[in-house]
Amino acid sequence: MIRKTLLASLLLASIALPAAAAITPPSEVAVKTAKYAASTYRKDIVDTLAKLVSYNTVADKAVPSDKNPVHIAFKEALKAEAQRLGLDYADHGWTVVIGLGQGSERVGVITHGDVQPVDPGKWKKSPFVLDRTSEPGKLLARGAEDDKGPIATALYAMKAIRDKALPLSKRIELYVYMGEESDWGPLVEFLKTHQPPQVNITLDAEYPAVTAEKGYGTVAVTVPKAGAAPAPEGQPYVAQFGGGFFGSQIPEDANALIANATPEIERAIRARGATQQGMQYSFSWQGSNLAIKAKGVSAHSSKPEDGVNAVSMLADALAVRPWAATTAGGVVNFLNEMVGTGIYGEKFGNIAYRDSFMGPMTFAPTVIKQREDGIEVSINMRRPQGKTGEQLTGEVNAALAAWQARRLPLADVTVRISDPWLQKSAPQLPTLMSVFSYFTGMRNPAPVAVGGGTNSRLFPGAVSFGPAMPGKVYTGHSEHEFITEKQLLLNLQMYTAVLVELAK
Ligand SMILES: [Zn+2]
Repeated sequence: MIRKTLLASLLLASIALPAAAAITPPSEVAVKTAKYAASTYRKDIVDTLAKLVSYNTVADKAVPSDKNPVHIAFKEALKAEAQRLGLDYADHGWTVVIGLGQGSERVGVITHGDVQPVDPGKWKKSPFVLDRTSEPGKLLARGAEDDKGPIATALYAMKAIRDKALPLSKRIELYVYMGEESDWGPLVEFLKTHQPPQVNITLDAEYPAVTAEKGYGTVAVTVPKAGAAPAPEGQPYVAQFGGGFFGSQIPEDANALIANATPEIERAIRARGATQQGMQYSFSWQGSNLAIKAKGVSAHSSKPEDGVNAVSMLADALAVRPWAATTAGGVVNFLNEMVGTGIYGEKFGNIAYRDSFMGPMTFAPTVIKQREDGIEVSINMRRPQGKTGEQLTGEVNAALAAWQARRLPLADVTVRISDPWLQKSAPQLPTLMSVFSYFTGMRNPAPVAVGGGTNSRLFPGAVSFGPAMPGKVYTGHSEHEFITEKQLLLNLQMYTAVLVELAK
């Protein structure tokens, strides 16, 4: 997602706020119910969040969600919470629907119960135990922000509305999908026979509201052993290069091994690395080989500006001399010549572009994988409107062809590019802006575009509404994921007010 809030373009502004009308404040009943929710359930919401994060609901490639025992146990816990709160519950396998009220007219709240992988070694406490003490005010756990905090919040927003016995003209439905981070296929299938609500908000991105999402893309190439230069006898060369964790995380770790290294090379790399902000390096000698560990800052790959990419930075730190195109040396050369330390694809042929509303395309190497036949470099792309997939694919392939002609042949070239998404019809936007403005004091909020993709695009009239504040670092997918108690309660008030307004 883009970090800096971009003002809506004229096109989107015209959808959002017709004639730039002054924002009407939310109704008294919406505000009262919201305040009641926050004062009554401030403790319960944290306890429910603690229950939800205790299940490691990461996808298991070998076991589909509806057969995965941890996912099933998570759904049981969700069911118990729903029933305790007096909400109805329906398990459709990959998708759970928790409801309040009756009626064919419905308001949908879209969330997901699965999480991204996590490296427990990077956490002070288990990422699956809600850590309420290590950093006062912060609730740390995998899923705290993405997306179990929002599930807990929605449950208590619905509970508060139920407590107040507000007359609703629409049924409220909370959707919890179990494969958002891994596989949207089962949700697409489900929605072929299940009629979704007419109006939807997705709690999986940021405020004030998200009406556009960049398209996800992957460029993966393997620098093959076959075709790479042989290790130069007695000369320094890059013998190993690796890093990264998963495709949608800006890598925090990277490593390299320089064979036949010299103290001069170490000094030069140290000096170059020291000029990079946010990077930490450690060096160790193994005989004449120099091992280098690089540590950056992980982030959601849709917001590379929130992190410091250890892979790009390490490659750059190594650019103190030319390296022979051994397999690992070829990877370093490829990264430095085609990606560099920028995050917008500036060095990759002509692919870079930007859109005035959706922002620039971002382009970040995320995983360097050691394979039998070579080393694979995966680059994560988030692209705005402005180019067709065909044009961009052509430009990527042209850049790769030019590099190969100059350097060495690549294997297993994969270019997968999906389209950006723009919500053209979202009648609930004025309500969202009104509630957001009232509870945050921010005047004239306007919809934004983000780099992340959410299930908004599968539901009619859906836009994202939180859970992250604009301009704040989004911690989902990172190794320092949290939601503050303050934000959780602010979200509870805003979600309650919005649901009252949309369902009354
Ligand atoms: Zn999410």
